[in-house]
Amino acid sequence: MKPSQRPAKVILRRCDEYDVQAIRRIVREGMETLELRPSGRTLLKPNLVASGPMFQHAYTRPEVTEGVLLALRDRDQGEMSELAVGERCGITVPTRMAMEGAGYDPMLKRLGVKRYAFEEEPQVEIPLSHPARLRDYIFTPEPVAKADFFVNVPKFKAHPWTTVTFSIKAYIGIQDDRHRLIDHDHRLNEKIADLQYIIQPELIVIDAITAGEGRMLTPIPFPMKMIALGNNQVAFDAVCCHIIGVDPLSVDHIRLAHERGFGPVELAEIEVTGDITLEEAKARAAGFKVGLVRVEKYFEGTHVSAYSGPPPESEKTDYCWGGCPGALEEAIEILRLFDEQTDTKLPHMHIVFGAYEGPIPAKPGEKIIFMGDCAEHHGKAGETVIDVASLYKPRSTKDPYTAQHEDVFVKMWKTIKKVREDRDEQVIRIQGCPVSVSEQVLLLVSLGGLKSPYLDGENMMSFNKAYLQWKSSAAWSRLRGVPYQRHGRCERGRAAPEVVTPEGAE
Ligand code: SF4
Repeated sequence: MKPSQRPAKVILRRCDEYDVQAIRRIVREGMETLELRPSGRTLLKPNLVASGPMFQHAYTRPEVTEGVLLALRDRDQGEMSELAVGERCGITVPTRMAMEGAGYDPMLKRLGVKRYAFEEEPQVEIPLSHPARLRDYIFTPEPVAKADFFVNVPKFKAHPWTTVTFSIKAYIGIQDDRHRLIDHDHRLNEKIADLQYIIQPELIVIDAITAGEGRMLTPIPFPMKMIALGNNQVAFDAVCCHIIGVDPLSVDHIRLAHERGFGPVELAEIEVTGDITLEEAKARAAGFKVGLVRVEKYFEGTHVSAYSGPPPESEKTDYCWGGCPGALEEAIEILRLFDEQTDTKLPHMHIVFGAYEGPIPAKPGEKIIFMGDCAEHHGKAGETVIDVASLYKPRSTKDPYTAQHEDVFVKMWKTIKKVREDRDEQVIRIQGCPVSVSEQVLLLVSLGGLKSPYLDGENMMSFNKAYLQWKSSAAWSRLRGVPYQRHGRCERGRAAPEVVTPEGAE
């Protein structure tokens, strides 16, 4: 039975520590309750958006992943043909580096589990046909398209662009950078809802032993001492929302997935069991802060004055929640970790997003940065009049099939060159849709003379090593002639996304 058609169940379990054997027992017992056994190509996807000591609360801890892998083996009755872990971590960073930084490599080696860095795999086209789709086809890495038993193992976290990142939102990691960046803007929640048609997890296990509060890359640790399991992704996220006191229907990607028939959000339709009641779980999460802070508010009291007008398609929203403004918030948090002097070193500057019409009270010499293709302003900025037009290209001009990956070193070079070229200009335009976190980090580093995370000794070495391995692997794939497969059909995998109507996919 498909995940969307099963009675939705969520199990809440007490788990005080990152103890592999305790997690293994909890997951094995949960799979027994859910009557789940792995079969065929079994793929586990953790959330490894960023890792290492600076980002220690951003990712699914390896003890949780190991516990789930062992439980999957415990429940296997000889039906599992492959057991693998795969992920695409944060944009531009090689997933190899994220896995190494999270301590996954020795664990996977010890267990004999295959590792997939999704950006190094062939990308498979998945056709979409539901009425509200953003695109007629999207791409996903071949291991995801071919998976028979998909297990989502996210981290329980807040998110500044989408309020929360539980199970549904973590699907942003089943695309490589070039495809992930398409529609990663004010339509991000719709994009995430479209990704649901690729595959639904048979099992969800969330790492809520230490949850992540407030932010996505640099969250504040929030001990909840809990593991939750489920068999339906929408129901699962809905229960997680209830735990932190958020209406699941107020989170657009959950609402959209629910409206498209992927699962229920009403508690009356979800069986919640376990050794923690929902009320006890709520008590554990009391005071948990979510994200969703507008950029103007976020930078209040700092040297950065932020202004935002509506993105294109202003009839849909007055703010680009999924793009450049949120990326700036994540960028500054990363820089604060690397350089405690960040806020004092940064010169006063003004950063404009979208079609902004209000005042820009810039003093002479203070930079005015137009961030992203859609940023525009026609009028006074301080004592001068500026006329900056939008460079936004309609989404219909972006084709996932021809999308190109832009190399991180090219991005670095372009950003540094841009700031150098415009050093005497008051107005700087940074192009992109979106302008990624890494580009915004580089921009602020260049403008403020800050310590660069990319040039941090040990960090730089492991980045370069992982980058070279990634590129060698990609070159080898190209030599074998397998950068893409044109169709949503794979030799051994699912033929197409499951039908999950009412709107339904093919
Ligand atoms: S340029 Fe940036 S702010 Fe504008 S629509 Fe694209 S992602 Fe959003």
